[in-house]
Amino acid sequence: MDAPATLGAALVAARGRIPQSEARLFLRAIAGVSAAQLAAYPERDLTPAQAARFADWLARRTAGEPVAYLLGEREFYGRCFRVTPATLIPRPETELIVDWAKTRLAPDAPARVLDLGTGSGALAVTLALEWPAAAVTGIDRSPAALAVAAANGAALGASVRWLESDWCAALEPAERFDLIVSNPPYVAADDPHLAEGDVRFEPRSALASGPRGLDDIARIAVTAPPFLVPGGWLIVEHGYDQAEAVRALLAEQGLGAVDSARDLAGIERISFGRCPDGLDALRRGA
Ligand code: GLN
Repeated sequence: MDAPATLGAALVAARGRIPQSEARLFLRAIAGVSAAQLAAYPERDLTPAQAARFADWLARRTAGEPVAYLLGEREFYGRCFRVTPATLIPRPETELIVDWAKTRLAPDAPARVLDLGTGSGALAVTLALEWPAAAVTGIDRSPAALAVAAANGAALGASVRWLESDWCAALEPAERFDLIVSNPPYVAADDPHLAEGDVRFEPRSALASGPRGLDDIARIAVTAPPFLVPGGWLIVEHGYDQAEAVRALLAEQGLGAVDSARDLAGIERISFGRCPDGLDALRRGA
């Protein structure tokens, strides 16, 4: 295809291949124009480099590449995060974890907060910015993801300690947190959903987790509670049909007040439990 030479020609070239809303997003990013300029000046020229880029994104989007990876960004909790194919694309339902934390932690709480499997850093950076007095640690096993997370923290002015670790393995045994959050992989390995849409292009390691999708949540349920202070909370996101199983995993580890919360679609999407007084001592054989 010849690369389109004007904004209007680009929109025409995209017609029937990708939604016009996506074509407009691409043009705004590539040509640096506002939505209003795009509507008012269809005759405006694209430089050859801009036109070539648009043609490239159009072809890649037609082949299924996620909009977020082509733009290199996605909004989470009202802020713009850089994303690359090394990271999961932040989902709106994960914002529920932040909303839930607001019901438990005062805005000025000097809380120690841990985000397990931080990916793009969306949760860790958001928590650090929403709780300015908090000390936030973001963990990921993937150095490539951690580089993206650190760049997001720096760009958004969040101070976060980034740690390369397989879940809690690299934490000092004496470390304690008031809140541990995680959006871990939780899709069943043979779920057909993994072969559809954007998900095909996302890191499999951030999505799939054993035959029932529960392998990583089970590991987190066992390894994270010893790092909670008494009264501290562990909260994980999970699949639409996993709430009961996740509550059982949390309760088995001695967490109390185990419950789930629903997302905007009414689906039980996150489950949580609280470290009771004494669990800390119990686990250390005191
Ligand atoms: N909610 C995502 C999906 O179904 C999965 C995210 C995850 O595994 N943490 O695509």
